[in-house]
Amino acid sequence: MADNNLNFMQGGGEMGELIRATDWSNTPIGPPESWPAPLRSSVSLMLNNLFPMYIAWGPGYTQLYNDGYRPILGESKHPQAIGLGTQETFPEIWETIGPMFTGVMQGKAVGFPDFRLVLERNGFPEECFFDFCYSPIRYEDGTVGGVLVTVIEITEKHKAYHSLDEANRKLEAAQAETRKERDRLKRFFMQAPAGICVLEGPKFIFELVNPLYQQLFQGRELMGRPLFEALPELKGHAIQDILQEVIRTGRTFQGNQILVPLAHTADGPLEDRYFDFIYQARLTHDNRVDGVLVFVYEVTETVRGHKRIEESEKRFRTLVEQAPVALLVNRGENLVFDIVNQPMIDIIGKGDQIKGKSWNEAIPELIGQPIVDQLYRTYRTGAEFRGLEVPIMLNKTGRPEQHYFNLVYRPLVEEGKITGLLQSAVDVTEQVNARKTLERAKDSLALALSAAELGTFDLDLLTGDLHWDERCRTLFGISHNRPVSYENDFLAGLYPDDKERVIRVIDQVMDIDIDNGNYDIEYRTIGAEDGQLRWLRAKGKAYFDEKKRPVRFTGTVLDISQQKTNEMRKNDFIGMVSHELKTPLTTLTAVMQIAALKLKDSENKQLASAIERGNVQVKRMTSMIKGFLDISRLESGKLVIEKTNFDLHQLLLEVVNELKLIVTGHDITLSNSPRLIINADRDKISSVISNLINNAVKYSPNGKPINVTCQRTKGEIIVAVRDQGIGIRQEDLAQIFDRYYRVNAHDMRNIAGFGIGLYLSSEIVKVHHGRIWAESVPGTGSIFYFALPAP
Ligand code: ADP
Repeated sequence: MADNNLNFMQGGGEMGELIRATDWSNTPIGPPESWPAPLRSSVSLMLNNLFPMYIAWGPGYTQLYNDGYRPILGESKHPQAIGLGTQETFPEIWETIGPMFTGVMQGKAVGFPDFRLVLERNGFPEECFFDFCYSPIRYEDGTVGGVLVTVIEITEKHKAYHSLDEANRKLEAAQAETRKERDRLKRFFMQAPAGICVLEGPKFIFELVNPLYQQLFQGRELMGRPLFEALPELKGHAIQDILQEVIRTGRTFQGNQILVPLAHTADGPLEDRYFDFIYQARLTHDNRVDGVLVFVYEVTETVRGHKRIEESEKRFRTLVEQAPVALLVNRGENLVFDIVNQPMIDIIGKGDQIKGKSWNEAIPELIGQPIVDQLYRTYRTGAEFRGLEVPIMLNKTGRPEQHYFNLVYRPLVEEGKITGLLQSAVDVTEQVNARKTLERAKDSLALALSAAELGTFDLDLLTGDLHWDERCRTLFGISHNRPVSYENDFLAGLYPDDKERVIRVIDQVMDIDIDNGNYDIEYRTIGAEDGQLRWLRAKGKAYFDEKKRPVRFTGTVLDISQQKTNEMRKNDFIGMVSHELKTPLTTLTAVMQIAALKLKDSENKQLASAIERGNVQVKRMTSMIKGFLDISRLESGKLVIEKTNFDLHQLLLEVVNELKLIVTGHDITLSNSPRLIINADRDKISSVISNLINNAVKYSPNGKPINVTCQRTKGEIIVAVRDQGIGIRQEDLAQIFDRYYRVNAHDMRNIAGFGIGLYLSSEIVKVHHGRIWAESVPGTGSIFYFALPAP
């Protein structure tokens, strides 16, 4: 068998030729007797079978196949394949089937359903599918001589299946897509941020209602009900016509902020509600309108919000316009005048035509002034500006004038954006000017104070804070700048002998009723640090609140040490001279009186009258010397008061009568004088009265009467001396009681005097705890009063 087999086993060998020479179409014919038995039986089987079959015989896999197999070989492999080796016929798939054939030759049958192979059988690579089985063709001894292949090509079936699969897949995908689409639509419908409903047919029956639509009418039954039955309040509303119009024409209707009075709940009250909505016709497949698709947003809150904004805008405008302070609102980046109230119009002074204009147009004189930059800066940065006493040049009256304003620029912010400026302005020009004048006055005052070497003190009586300026500190011998106090520095710095008197005077100053808080005193200090004794004159005033309580005590102090020394010297001199003059004058008075007495009845009338006149002059001189002596005693604290009880009326009478003897040109009368016993120094009070009458004589033209009266009031006895003389100016009245003070006036030039009479009188009255003052009308006359405490 080995020899025989050799030929068969070489594909294309003898056997190949034999096979090729065989007319296989002429079936059934049996295989040649020379072929091995198993091959022959296999060939017979194959040739008698309609199913495609194929034999690959021998080691070269020489090919034999039946008619059924031909289509598998295609146009380019048949009929050449007959008798050829399989590898030669199927090089393109040999890699796949070669190992299978080898396996079969070793006795292992294989079979595959739906096996894919790419064949080159019609001139191009072709994807083919097969159900096939390779089984061994065995000799009787079991060895394998070749491969029997049964095969069915299922390429077409496979393709059909495949496209069916594909179609199925597409269908499923389409279904899934539709499902998704439907879900999406449903989601959109149910979750849409708008209320959506479908109204079906001419009765507008709710066919579909999404939750948001339902929410617009909480608890009201809508689904399945006609619109105007479910929401009867809509009947007669313009909406009814609109819906019918949509059904009729198929045109879409869109409404914005439409007011619809609707109730939220079935039995709730009608409310003004606002809606944005779209009515869209729903079309059937043949384009008929069979319903209306409704999209609706409730915008009631937005509309109300807008209305509220409008309202608040209006209120803001009214507020600005009616504000009592000057306000204005600028809008936009050109800062156009939008709202300007009357006070602001008055300040700007250009009338109300400025509305709608920009700054530069409205107030051209502001161009170039820094304040305009500030305006724009505030607008740009949003930082509020507050300016005090900002100088601005305004041209209100036709010429530029300097004004000062307290200004506030505040940005107006709407929805996070600056849209304008709100400004307030207060015209403080007058205050600033007044302050500047005051500052200048203060400067001059300070200058004057320092030039006059005046120190100042200021005591806050509520807090007890005492302020002394540098000069005042120096006068109390203090060099430090630390706080000072009334007790520790002022009182402690007083000369011990003066302390009691100063305290008494200050106590009186604190009583508004005594001298309206006026303070004028001289006292000595002992320097706190330098121990130096100084004479000071302090002048000042206490200020009172509405309840007459003193709240502040302020004034100036002046160093009068030098003046005091001079005065004391002068006093000493006057005292000494007066004292020296007193003795010779007493003698002279006595001599003159004796001479007058002797000459009383003399023939020599001329001599008698000369002596009489001499006598009057000596009396005048005596009272003058007495005055000087009193002054010097007063100054040196040696004026002694000797009080006795006496009748004031009697004294007044005596003085008037005595003066009547001396004074010839005036009629001196005493009237309204009741008898009054008082306790006082008779001699000193007498000199006060005669001083006042003498002044009345001195300062009245000849012939003018002088009247003296005395009256008792509640707690006082008041003596008044009235003349019709030259009078005293108001500004002099307060000072005529000062020592050596004489009014400096033209009509005074020829009237002799030293300015001590009233000073002495006032001192005498004061030690009697009384008061002295004068009233006068210049050119008409004066009244001098003194009051003593009534017994
Ligand atoms: P003197 O008369 O010596 O000048 P006085 O102290 O008596 O001094 O008076 C002070 C000043 O008051 C006077 O210089 C005078 O200007 C004014 N005076 C006083 N009495 C009268 C009066 N009756 N009428 C007008 N002026 C008067």
